[in-house]
Amino acid sequence: MRVVVDLNRCQSYGQCVFAAPEVFRFQGAESLEYDHVPDAGSDQAVERAALACPAQAILLGRSAEAGVVSQAVAAEMR
Ligand code: SF4
Repeated sequence: MRVVVDLNRCQSYGQCVFAAPEVFRFQGAESLEYDHVPDAGSDQAVERAALACPAQAILLGRSAEAGVVSQAVAAEMR
């Protein structure tokens, strides 16, 4: 699974960090870092994180869809 966080939407609520701490973490007070391609064993936790995000900033895609997800985020950021 591929993970993309739209950092323009992210409000640093931290729900993703609680749901999947092995994938999402804060670097400093509000700077979110995450694994773009986490281990498959984290898929359920990542899906919970995406559902829990109040800003709906977490986009998920299968490997074959990664380019599509990235393009969607890039389009939103323009
Ligand atoms: S839950 Fe959503 S808004 Fe909160 S830190 Fe994670 S990605 Fe950002």
